[in-house]
Amino acid sequence: MVGNGAEQSEAAGERAAEPVRQYGAGVPDRFQRLWMPHRMAYIKGEDKPAGSESGEGCPFCSIPSMADADGLIVARGDSVYAVLNLYPYNSGHLMVCPYRHVADYTEIDQAETTELASFTKIAMRTLRAASGAQGFNIGMNMGGVAGAGIAAHLHQHVVPRWGGDSNFMPVIGHTKVLPQLLAETRQLLADAWHAAS
Ligand SMILES: [Zn+2]
Repeated sequence: MVGNGAEQSEAAGERAAEPVRQYGAGVPDRFQRLWMPHRMAYIKGEDKPAGSESGEGCPFCSIPSMADADGLIVARGDSVYAVLNLYPYNSGHLMVCPYRHVADYTEIDQAETTELASFTKIAMRTLRAASGAQGFNIGMNMGGVAGAGIAAHLHQHVVPRWGGDSNFMPVIGHTKVLPQLLAETRQLLADAWHAAS
């Protein structure tokens, strides 16, 4: 089922079929992603964060300089922006983060705090409107010990949930089945974002 050249591999260049290369932010986990739009197109996310020590090489710092479609940016605010996770737990899994390279929640200023909260609400409305999300997991992992993959640049996860969105695949096959490609998800959410703002 996942044997058609879509296996995620630590070794680069081991791709049987050349997938679309997508830059973005997120942390590879042990799950493979089986992208399942109707034609069984398989795409693997494989970009690892270049580093998490400083603004240099930090994906959350470099993404805002990219075009929205290239960086998977859903919306831009004054001090924060919303971006799709390259390694989503569910379709529509996005992250809200400040433009500023700040690690700890206590370090963001009032304007960033306010807009981060506001963007989180808009993200929920957007995901409800665009994809009928029935629930959410929302939160931040502060520090590597807490599970933050890109610990140096804080980001709030907004993960939409649906009844029955989990199945045997993550348990048996370490594979997440995702019904929509990232580029399509980004476009859908970017379009819906304005109406939800
Ligand atoms: Zn950064």
